[in-house]
Amino acid sequence: MNFRLAQPHNLIDLNGVEGLEQIQFDDQTLSLGAMVRQRDVERSASIAERLPILREAIEQVAHPAIRNRGTAGGSLVHADPSAELPLLAVALDATFQLRNARASRSVAARDFYQGYLLTDIAPDELLVATDFHMPPADCGWCCTEIARRHGDFAIVAVAVLLGCGRDGRIDFARVALGGVGPAPLRILAAEQALMGAGLGTELFRRAGDVAAQAVDPPVDIHASSSYRRHLTGVLVRRALATAERRIKGRA
Ligand SMILES: Cc1cc2nc3c(=O)[nH]c(=O)nc-3n(C[C@H](O)[C@H](O)[C@H](O)COP(=O)(O)OP(=O)(O)OC[C@H]3O[C@@H](n4cnc5c(N)ncnc54)[C@H](O)[C@@H]3O)c2cc1C
Repeated sequence: MNFRLAQPHNLIDLNGVEGLEQIQFDDQTLSLGAMVRQRDVERSASIAERLPILREAIEQVAHPAIRNRGTAGGSLVHADPSAELPLLAVALDATFQLRNARASRSVAARDFYQGYLLTDIAPDELLVATDFHMPPADCGWCCTEIARRHGDFAIVAVAVLLGCGRDGRIDFARVALGGVGPAPLRILAAEQALMGAGLGTELFRRAGDVAAQAVDPPVDIHASSSYRRHLTGVLVRRALATAERRIKGRA
């Protein structure tokens, strides 16, 4: 509203609505209520332990003063293509729980994000909660980005998850990018390049190259398209190397 992107006639304050502030885990999902503050995500011991990539992502959202008030739902619905929470929603195949006065429905993240600041949510709908699907417990992870200053929106952001079987071959791979298109994207070509392969620097470099070729980044006042493409390759490679170090049970 400060940027005059939205000039609503009526404003509904969700602060008094009960039941939107819960953080709930089961074996399959983390359910984040729409009014959970970003700071509460950051401070949640259970999120740090069970879904540490979310903790790493939220620490890169703005500054503490903003995270104290900013909500999970506000960020997820605002749908900035460089924002960390929508990136994680795409990386973790999240499901959005929406409700209006008559009915409820669920929408997968891949269908929810439709373009720049554009989602599938209807004017009469409320986001109630977002269910992040839990990755395998032993997989490695990394969420990293390049921004002009700490706390700025990312020029490019990446979230990766990496798991491998007993034979050392990759059996779980997620590569998602923010800031390279009108909405956060999963890079399936990079995931396919990783699946079934043995971990290693050369593979990560190749996956970074595949990701860089798969995107068609925008130009804006912050960066050229080619610089964003370059960052994509570098960040994917770095994030995969970090994720490899974090795979549990590896020597
Ligand atoms: C200086 C600054 C720097 C920032 N840097 C970053 C950054 O680096 N990374 C990042 O990810 N974010 C960043 N942000 C965004 C910030 O973290 C908040 O997510 C954002 O401002 C939204 O705030 P809010 O939660 O109060 O939502 P609001 O501003 O209240 O809502 C945002 C939009 O979502 C809609 N909405 C909110 N809740 C719901 C709901 N439950 N159901 C349906 N619609 C809903 C609103 O109608 C509105 O259109 C930054 C913000 C500022 C001001």
